[in-house]
Order: sequence, then structure tokens, then C-alpha cells
Amino acid sequence: MSDLHQKSLRELAAGLAAGEFSSVELTEHFLQRIRTFDHDLNSLVTVCDKEALLQAGAADERIQKGEAGPLTGIPLVHKDIFCTKGVKTSCGSFMLDNFVSPYDATVVEKLAGAGMVMLGKANMDEFAMGSSNETSYYGPARNPWDTERVPGGSSGGSAAAVAARLAPAATGTDTGGSIRQPAAFCGITGLKPTYGRVSRWGMIAFASSLDQAGPMARSAEDCALLLSAMAGFDEKDSTSAERPVDDYLAALEQPLDGLKVGVVKEFFEEGLDSEMAASMEQAMAELKKLGAERVEVSLPHSKYSVAAYYVVAPAECSSNLARFDGVRFGHRCKDPKDLEDLYKRSRSEGFGAEVKRRIMIGTYALSAGYYDAYYLKAQQVRQVIADDFRKAFEQADLLLGPASPETAFRLGEKSSDPVSMYLSDIYTIAVNLAGLPALSMPAPRVGGLPAGLQLIGNYFDEARLLNVAHQLQRATDWHLQAPEGY
Ligand code: GLN
Repeated sequence: MSDLHQKSLRELAAGLAAGEFSSVELTEHFLQRIRTFDHDLNSLVTVCDKEALLQAGAADERIQKGEAGPLTGIPLVHKDIFCTKGVKTSCGSFMLDNFVSPYDATVVEKLAGAGMVMLGKANMDEFAMGSSNETSYYGPARNPWDTERVPGGSSGGSAAAVAARLAPAATGTDTGGSIRQPAAFCGITGLKPTYGRVSRWGMIAFASSLDQAGPMARSAEDCALLLSAMAGFDEKDSTSAERPVDDYLAALEQPLDGLKVGVVKEFFEEGLDSEMAASMEQAMAELKKLGAERVEVSLPHSKYSVAAYYVVAPAECSSNLARFDGVRFGHRCKDPKDLEDLYKRSRSEGFGAEVKRRIMIGTYALSAGYYDAYYLKAQQVRQVIADDFRKAFEQADLLLGPASPETAFRLGEKSSDPVSMYLSDIYTIAVNLAGLPALSMPAPRVGGLPAGLQLIGNYFDEARLLNVAHQLQRATDWHLQAPEGY
């Protein structure tokens, strides 16, 4: 039973159905791994032993009664941005260090409804602002491939936990790359769905027009299973898409003959590590063997995406985070002199440096007199970027490039230089600005470390992304490689 943590979600479901192990045993197995390894990795900020074993017991009953679905009894971790009833939701911040939500986020409710067992809450950059997990109030999570390196961010705890086999699956959120970049750094598969495909209700808001939740797991097939349970219209989220959910599992088996893969020219220009480029070319060569055709596409305005994002995202965050004032939500300072003192001190004590930096930039960009020059301009750039993608999808069925210009960097390497940190999302951000779906999956390693292949789809084409990734994973073993010692 010692290799339970190596099994795919389908294998776990089959083992549970056949009575080879129970959900309680499976849950205990993962809790034991968390106790053994998470001291070094710091991938979880809360572990819910008791609740998990209760949920596992209930799942076992469902399995025995023949009422199990494909995810019933399988453990996972939730990024600590999702509200969980009765279990602390910190969003990686001292501001919410004592916050216990009275309700579950829709994503949490749906996965619990499918019978999944919550092992704990995953570490993350504070309010999902970061690319390395180093802005977390709880200290950085570490990359299991090399604990001196970052796991990426902001969903770094989720990625580290899945890569180290402390959980077979995790949830993440992606506002500018926060599912794909940590998936790339930790050698797992992560999907950011089309904006509106998965409900944002109960997910603590960072930048509402960009935020999107998605699955993180070791394979595309596992992500397809998770997304099937997570996706769908939610009347509690006004931007949720009112359209049926595709059959992601059935789509996995489609052959790739004649598939047009658009290689994004700009993603292979200066700034890309040459070994990273070679890894991407190897993946493209493999796709060709599977019947795909290579076409060159261009996203000429993608070079403006980081600049536009760092106006839009801070602007929206400054508005969303206004609610954490020590009165309605969040940390309250001790013995305030008056109301102004209460606001000022609660917010200066509650938020960390990166969050404060963003609130200041965002407030400035939205202020009267600057709104047109910054926010409105950034929204126009966003439209131009979306148009580039529209044209690219006239030539190609999906687009290919790296998820990140480099492999996982060292802890501390970029933390004192915000701009170099912001640039690590240079290949992921345009996708959020346009609202498109994209995934990152392991490509051939670079210098011994995981490299992420990014596939970008047209709107609501998650099924095709998962299909292509699955076919590639059937033909290769890149996604099966594990960090040593786990
Ligand atoms: N790294 C980007 C940022 O710091 C993206 C974060 C995210 O996707 N949540 O904003």
C-alpha cells in the first residue's frame, strides 16, 4: 500500500471501488506523508486531519452503497484563497490570519459534493500577488525538486504539494499565471480555464476581471476529471458563463491528425533561455509525430501585456481590498484612537509590502485625472491583445510556447526586485488579459529542473487543450518524473 501516492486519480478510484483500500486509509496515507515531508516544504498552511478523516468515512459509506462518482474518496488540497466553512481561510495574509468563513466557495462545495476529501489549505503568495510564494505571511513554500528554489506562485503551495505527492490533486487560481507558472516550476499539469468557466464565488477576489480557478494535478487526465466537477454556471457569480460543460474525459481520446499548432514567434525571441527553447521544440516535434502540423503565429502586442496587467490588476485589487478595513473584514489593530487610526493601523499591520505596493499603484491609476491615462489605456491595450489572439486562432487550433522564460529560481533571487519578479509572468499574462484558457504541462527538463510547456486554447476550448496534453502524455514520460526523495 506504500505506493498509493503514485497512483493517478483513475487508479485511485478503481482501487477504492474494488475495495483494495478505503478512503480513510488513503487519507491517512497522505496525512502521514504531510507529517513527514511538509516541515521542509511548507506547502500547507492548515492541515485538517480530523475533518479529512470524517469526510473520508462518509466517502467510504457512499462507495459501499454504490453511490460513488469518479472522485469520491480521493483527497486534495485547496489553495488558501478558497473560503472553507469552519476551516481558516488566510489568503496567505496576516490580515485574514483569524478568518473562518461561514460558507464554502462554490469550487469547494462542488468538489466536496463529488466526494473529495480536503486534507488542508495550501500556502500561497499574499492575496495571490506574487510569482514565488515568498510574499506569504506564513513564509515561502519550497520546491520539492530543490528546496533552495521557489515553487513559483501564487499557487506555489498547491504545486509543491502535488509534486511531492502530499496530495494527488489541488485547486489553484490564476490571475496572471498563478496556476501555470508554479505548475511549470514544480513539473506538474495545471489548467487555467476560460474566464467565467469556473465560479469565482467564495474565492477571495484579487483582480475580478482576471481571476479564474482551475485544477492542478500530475496529468491532463487528472485535470480533466477535476475540471468536470469544478466547471459550470453559478448564479452566485455574475460573470459565470451560462453554457453547458463539455465532456472533457471523452475528448481526451481524440487523435491529433491535422491539428494545427501555432508556435508563438514572440515567445521564442530574446529573453528565452536557449535550453528552454530546445525543450519546447522537443515537445513540438513529439506533437508532429502524433499527426499535428506546425504553423507560425504572431502576437505582436503581447510585449505590452505585463505593462497593461500591472495597471489593471493593481487597480482592481485596490478596490477589492478596500473591504479589509478592520471593521467589516480583517485584522483590527489594538486600542485605536479614533476611526482614522483604526483604518490606518489595521491596514498597515494587516498587509505585507507587495500588497501595499499594489494598492498604492492601483489607487493612483484609478484616481481622477489619471484614470484615462492609465486604467482606460490599459483596457484598450487589453482589447488589442485579445485581437491578436483572435487572428492567431484563424491560423491555428491552439498555440504553443513556454509557460515561463526560465526554470525555478532561487529563494531570494528576485524578491528585492519587483520588476524582475513581474517579468517572470511574461508568457502567461496575455492569456488572462484576453480571458482565454491555457495549461502548463511538463516538457523535457532543463538543467535537471522541470520546464513547463504552455498550450493556449480558444475560448471554452478546454476539452481540446486537455486532449492534446493527454495525447502528448500518453506518448512521453515527462509528466511521470518525480522529484527525488518523494
Ligand atoms: N504573478 C502575478 C502577480 O503577481 C500573477 C499572480 C496570479 O496569477 N494570481 O500578479
